[in-house]
Amino acid sequence: MNDRAMWIGGQHVTAPDAGWIDSRDPATEEVIGRVPAGGAAEVAQAVAAARDAADDWRYTAANDRAELLHEAYAKSMAHHGELVELLTREQGKARPEQEEEAEWALTSLRYYAELGRNGVGRVVPSAEPRTQLNLVLKEPYGVVGAIVPWNYPLLLLSWKLAPALAAGNTVVVKPSELTSLVTLEWIERCFDHFPPGVVNVVTGYGTDAGEALVAHPDVRVIAMTGSVATGQRIASVAAPMMKHLHLELGGKDAFVVAPDAELDTAVDALAYSALLNAGQVCTSSERIFVPQGMRDDFAEALSAKVSGLRLGHGLEEGTDIGPLADDRFRDKVDAHVRDALDRGARVLTGGVRPDRQGWFYEPTVLVDVDDDMVIMTEETFGPTIPVASYDDFDAAIERVNASEMGLGATLRSSDPLLIKRFYERVKAGTVWINDPLTDNYAGPFGGTKMTGGGRELGPEGLETFLETKHVHWDFDQASKDWWLPY
Ligand code: NAD
Repeated sequence: MNDRAMWIGGQHVTAPDAGWIDSRDPATEEVIGRVPAGGAAEVAQAVAAARDAADDWRYTAANDRAELLHEAYAKSMAHHGELVELLTREQGKARPEQEEEAEWALTSLRYYAELGRNGVGRVVPSAEPRTQLNLVLKEPYGVVGAIVPWNYPLLLLSWKLAPALAAGNTVVVKPSELTSLVTLEWIERCFDHFPPGVVNVVTGYGTDAGEALVAHPDVRVIAMTGSVATGQRIASVAAPMMKHLHLELGGKDAFVVAPDAELDTAVDALAYSALLNAGQVCTSSERIFVPQGMRDDFAEALSAKVSGLRLGHGLEEGTDIGPLADDRFRDKVDAHVRDALDRGARVLTGGVRPDRQGWFYEPTVLVDVDDDMVIMTEETFGPTIPVASYDDFDAAIERVNASEMGLGATLRSSDPLLIKRFYERVKAGTVWINDPLTDNYAGPFGGTKMTGGGRELGPEGLETFLETKHVHWDFDQASKDWWLPY
C-alpha cells in the first residue's frame, strides 16, 4: 500500500487522527494508495510554515528563485517516467495525453522562472520632477492557497505554483482528493531543495482542508481551478476577508463548423477536442453547431470515426480513451445522455457503459438535440458529442453565447469574414480557429461569465500573484505651501 504523508515545512507530516482517503486506479477500481484526510489543524500548520518562510522568500533574489525553479524542472525530468506512470494510474487518461500534461506542467516552471527574473515595476512622472520619485512596485502577497482539480493535476498546479513562487509568494497546495498521490510525489521529490515552508501540500477533502485554507486569515490569495459551485462557495467564504481570488471554473465550450469548412478534417478536430481526456477537459467541445445541409454527412463521418476509438487502461499501448475519473462522474454523463434520449435525441454510437471493470463510458455521438436539453446546457465532462444544426451563422453565434459559461470556443473555417465575426462576437476567454485546445505559454488562458475571470499563463498569469504598490517619495523635507493652516 502506497501510504503517503503530507509535505509541510519541508517535512513529511502524518495526521494519525485524521483518517485516510483512498486513491483508486479508475481503470481497475483498485486502491493504489492512501493520503491523510487533513483538516483545519493541518492547514494551520502548513500556513504557519508558509508564513514563517514568506519574508526570506520575498527577499530572495529573483535570479536565485529562477534557479530553484530550473532545478525543479531538472529533477522533474529525471523522474519523468515515474511521474507519468503514477499520473496515469491515478488519473486515468491515455499515456500520450499524460506525457503532454507533464510536458506542459514542467515547461511552465522554466517559463515562469524567466518571467520572474525579468519582473518589472514602473517609474512614473512626478508632479515635482526635481525632488520627487514615483515608483509603481509589484510585490508578492505573502501566502497563496492553490486549490487544484483532478483532471490535469500537475499542469493546473504548475500554472499556479510556478508564477506564485517566481513572484515571491510561498504556497500551500490542496490537491484534489482523487489525485493527491501524484501531487505529493512531484512536490516532495522535485521541490525538496526549496527552503522549508516555501512549498507545502495539505491533503484532504475540499469541504475540510480546502475550506479551512480559504478561511485562514493569513492566506491572502486563493488560486483555484474547479467547478462553478465550488468557486461560488469559495467566493462566499473569502468575501468577508476581501481576499484576492483567482478562479478558473467550468466550461460548456461550443464548436462551430462554418459552411465553408472541410468536413473530414472538421470531424478529426472535433473528435480530438470532445474526447481528449475522455471529455474531462474544461475546454472540451460540448455543444456542436453544424450547418443544416452538412449535418447528416457530418454526423455519419463523426460516428464512424468515434466508434473506431479504443477504450482501455491509460498505460496500455494503443489506448485512445481512458476511463472517467470516478463512478459518480460516469453517472452524471449517463444521466445527461438519458435526458437527451427521453426528449427525442438519437444516439448514433455509444451511449452505454461497457461491460468491463473500471469507470469507462463509450464515446457517444448524439443528433436531434435541442439547445435546452441538459446535455447542451450543463457541463457534462464526459465523452459525449451532441451535434445540433443551424441555418444562419449569426444565429449560431448567438446560440454559442447563450451559455452562462464562457471559457473557450472553436470555429472551423477559412473564410476571414466569418472568422473575424466569430472571434469578435463570441464571449469566451479563448477562441480557437481550426486548431482547438492548443495553449501557448505566452498566451493567457481563462474564462468569462460564470467561468470566472482568472487568467493563467502569459504575463497575466504572473501578475495575478503580484500586488501593486505606489510609492510617492519626496527627497525634500521642506513644508509645502498647501499644508495646514490655510
Ligand atoms: P471541484 O470543484 O469538485 O474541486 C476542485 C478543488 O476544489 C478540489 O481540490 C476540491 O477538493 C476543492 N474543493 C471542493 N470544495 C471546496 C470548498 N468548499 N472549499 C475549498 N475547496 C474545495 O472540481 P473537480 O471535479 O476537481 O474538477 C472539475 C471541474 O473543474 C470542472 O467543472 C471543470 O470545468 C473545472 N476546470 C476548470 C478549468 C479552467 O481552467 N477553467 C480547468 C480544469 C478544470
